[in-house]
Amino acid sequence: MLQLFSSFTNRKTILMDIIMNKMKASVKSRRTSLKRKENTIMSPQKKKPCFKQIKEELPKENIYHTFKNPGEIYSFRASLLSWYDKNKRELPWRRMALSESNLNKRGYAVWVSEIMLQQTQVATVIDYYNKWMLRWSNLQDLAKATLEEVNQMWSGLGYYSRGKRLHEGAQKISSEFKGEMPRSAEELQKLLPGVGRYTAAAIASIAFEEVIGVVDGNVTRVLCRAKAIGADCTSPTVTEALWMLANTLVDLVRPGDFNQAMMELGATVCTPKAPLCAECPVQTHCRAYQQVIKEREMVSKRLLGNTASQISSTPDIEECGGGGNCPLCLPEKEPWVSDLGVMNFPRKPTKKPPRIEHTLTCVVTRRRDNDDTEEYFLVQRPNSGLLAGMWEFPSVLLRTEVKEKKQKCIIFDRLTELMGNLVTDTHLQNIGEVFRLFKHSSVNEKQLAKGEKLQCGSEKHEGKQKGRKRRAPKEVQGQQLSINSFFQPAAIKPL
Ligand code: SF4
Repeated sequence: MLQLFSSFTNRKTILMDIIMNKMKASVKSRRTSLKRKENTIMSPQKKKPCFKQIKEELPKENIYHTFKNPGEIYSFRASLLSWYDKNKRELPWRRMALSESNLNKRGYAVWVSEIMLQQTQVATVIDYYNKWMLRWSNLQDLAKATLEEVNQMWSGLGYYSRGKRLHEGAQKISSEFKGEMPRSAEELQKLLPGVGRYTAAAIASIAFEEVIGVVDGNVTRVLCRAKAIGADCTSPTVTEALWMLANTLVDLVRPGDFNQAMMELGATVCTPKAPLCAECPVQTHCRAYQQVIKEREMVSKRLLGNTASQISSTPDIEECGGGGNCPLCLPEKEPWVSDLGVMNFPRKPTKKPPRIEHTLTCVVTRRRDNDDTEEYFLVQRPNSGLLAGMWEFPSVLLRTEVKEKKQKCIIFDRLTELMGNLVTDTHLQNIGEVFRLFKHSSVNEKQLAKGEKLQCGSEKHEGKQKGRKRRAPKEVQGQQLSINSFFQPAAIKPL
């Protein structure tokens, strides 16, 4: 491992294999010891930190991107956990993980929280989580729910496929594993839909105390800063190095708390844009912070009149043994920027420009005969892709922008395909355009309508799901229509 960090020039190709082997061996030995627990949670007081194990995991030469010695690891863990005990936020899933003695219920409670927290802020999730757990307090209850009920409960959280996978996973555990949740990260990842490497490790460590590290966005930021990892943090090399660090660092006595403490630190102290280094419990272990201090000292010396010859004009951050070729250091073409300070880390690849998509959408309404209630015609989206399985107004994805006349023909063909000859194209009217932002795609949606009340419009989606920019709706039959009015709850059954 060490050799890799110190002689990357001609050994890049074997880096991944060695990191992977190291991690597999480390995780395997930990899992073996965990199996002996026979699914019981050991009292923390009965276990002691094992320095021998820490030492064996350490690289032997280059320590620039990792830890100097077992003592440093122990000190890092102790400082972080002590800070966490005093500063952690009280969150409903944390209370459940601590108080629930039934392992299946505890695993389920952590699993739900981890899935909801993917791509979503803690503050937003709390309410959804409480309502979800009130309605489906265990796996079996969730397994009996319908997908519509799940989607309804998930409504507003976004990325609906998460709720769908959670539902599928609960049904699988209920029917195939007799309600017994897989206990290890390896099994969780292998057996449950929607559970990736991070989620599996988080559930296993928090709910079942498996000694395994986690790497999410917050942990990536903390580790990249603490160990001056400045290469693209999404690259496979950096990803594996971060997992190795996380697995080396994780506390042997309180793995779940340690992992939550790392994430808490990233979320509340080592934040992306305003890190609070003065309050950081692991400041003494942080290379990025040390570099900032070093720079400040250099500036002070300059101001005090030291000769320029005594001071290098650029900070000496290349202490890594990689000789300028280390794949974990800041790239030579994008070196340390003084103004950024610790925010020089992590580095991400340049974002691709958002993809623009154009979609024609048609709102078909009718009045119910007996009570004059307005009903809407909805269709279900395919089971995969954007908004998989959700209900929507009939729509057609356009390859290119087309003129309004052609739009009518296209949407009319789609309506005929869906509803037969219940519609005529003379009923269609264009009512405007909506621009919508999605994190992973961009869509421009044209809306056309058919029915007693004819409503037509268009919608554009782009980049991030940050809300909608709406163009002024057009006048239709003397009445100004809002696109939002299409989304009011009404009858959702097809005509
Ligand atoms: Fe992050 Fe600053 Fe702490 Fe380093 S010292 S880990 S940059 S908050």
